[in-house]
Amino acid sequence: MSEELLAENLQKLRPFLEEFSVEPIQHFINGRSVGASDGERFANYSPIDESLIGEVASGTREDIDTACDAAAAAFEDWAVLPGKQRRDLLHAIADAIEANAETIALVESFDTGQPLRFMSKAAIRGAENYRFFADMAPQARDGLSLPAQHHMNYSLRQPIGPVGIITPWNTPFMLATWKIAPALAAGCTVVHKPAEWSPCTAAMHVKILHDAGLPAGVVNTVQGIGEVAGKALTEHEAIKAVAFVGESRTGSEIMKQGADTLKRVHFELGGKNPVIVFEDADLERALDAVVFMIYSLNGERCTSSSRLLIQKSIATDFIDQVKARVAVLNVGHPLNPGTEVGPLIHEKHREKVSSYFEIAKEDGATVAIGGNTSNLEGKGFFVEPTLFTNASASMRIAKEEIFGPVLTVIEFEEESEAVSIANDVDYGLAGYVWTSDSGRGIRLARDLEVGMVWVNSENNRHLASPFGGMKASGVGRDGGDYSFDFYMETKNVCIATNDHSVPKLGKN
Ligand code: NAD
Repeated sequence: MSEELLAENLQKLRPFLEEFSVEPIQHFINGRSVGASDGERFANYSPIDESLIGEVASGTREDIDTACDAAAAAFEDWAVLPGKQRRDLLHAIADAIEANAETIALVESFDTGQPLRFMSKAAIRGAENYRFFADMAPQARDGLSLPAQHHMNYSLRQPIGPVGIITPWNTPFMLATWKIAPALAAGCTVVHKPAEWSPCTAAMHVKILHDAGLPAGVVNTVQGIGEVAGKALTEHEAIKAVAFVGESRTGSEIMKQGADTLKRVHFELGGKNPVIVFEDADLERALDAVVFMIYSLNGERCTSSSRLLIQKSIATDFIDQVKARVAVLNVGHPLNPGTEVGPLIHEKHREKVSSYFEIAKEDGATVAIGGNTSNLEGKGFFVEPTLFTNASASMRIAKEEIFGPVLTVIEFEEESEAVSIANDVDYGLAGYVWTSDSGRGIRLARDLEVGMVWVNSENNRHLASPFGGMKASGVGRDGGDYSFDFYMETKNVCIATNDHSVPKLGKN
């Protein structure tokens, strides 16, 4: 049955693949599809069967200049558009995304290797992001009323200007909506530089925006290589802020690149997130969450729980159960709706992920399951879902972000030990705690050095809540009003309400 559904999905995808193979994937600048200024392109392959999807325009500094000029020109009108009009437009965009959700999911799945079962939800979440920020658009400018004895202070918010948005390849469509929707709701214009390994849905996204009625120049997409197009974007004078999602070391580069133009930056970076399971937890639910939060989305997920911290008293049984689940994970073609784990995004990324199979052994851990690369009929950048046991907190597999379907298990005796292991990494994005002791849940939520804690829950998202990391996992928060704080300037206005005394200088 699922083989038939796979064939059906491939059939549905065919016209889009034909289009990509004939027409290169272009930039979209000032309402028009354009190639690179020097005609350069790079090839984009599917990680599933290594087939060429198509050629992609390779953005130059000149392309970025043109896109930033377009965003700066469009800012004048877009920034003053009444919030209600922005709201209606963003809802129209959400409608259009929903209408195209199936295609977006199929294309994204083929381009990235992410299983369709997760990508179809990601496309719908993209629409939800637009709806959520659409409804906030009319209030985006609102500030505070801050009366003092002889003065009235009030604050108001104004869009910061054209912004640069740089996104990664792991769930590219959804992540781009998560950044672009609040920027538009705030009144900013955008230059988007999507990841070079996942250009397809970025091209579809910007076309949907314009077909839904977004004026030319409000969102511009420049495809290309991070160190060229991305770098030029972060250095551009017209760009007032850069929202970046990607690796921690790229974040650090971007901070340096943006220093001369004093860029405001917002970073969502890497993670090495712990899921801590105590003996008093609902172990069945904890097991579901542990397996889901690392083996879904191919483990290529910033909030994946890539370290399982398990209390010693229950470790043997719990690990056996994890092993049993991992052994039967359905690895296969991502467009097959039954597939749970697909191929990794790129050959280079597979090299990185699989290098940890040896590192684990060298450091003295056990490869309890998996630990090999694999393929589908001889092709594709697959790895086996992998479980490392007998690991200690100091090992590289316990400290470094692997970003694949690979889980490292570390055992602990006491709560305090769990906290210190959890915090003993450079990252600080998310933490998951499973316990039936509510006091302990609250204590850990306080003590974990992370931006987000889920207690007895998998990664449940609430769009108004702050999203982001501490330490090497990020700078700033997204979500609800937090996003507006980034995309807007807060201005204070102070008005005297009486003739208060003004110091007199130069008057004897
Ligand atoms: P990456 O840092 O290699 O690339 C991300 C983007 O930055 C790409 O568009 C790339 O072209 C661009 N880029 C690269 N060098 C640049 C430079 N010098 N200047 C400007 N732009 C540059 O990240 P990736 O490999 O695409 O994505 C995986 C990483 O993203 C993981 O570390 C993951 O944890 C992280 N991530 C974090 C979150 C979060 O919310 N914290 C969400 C998703 C992914």
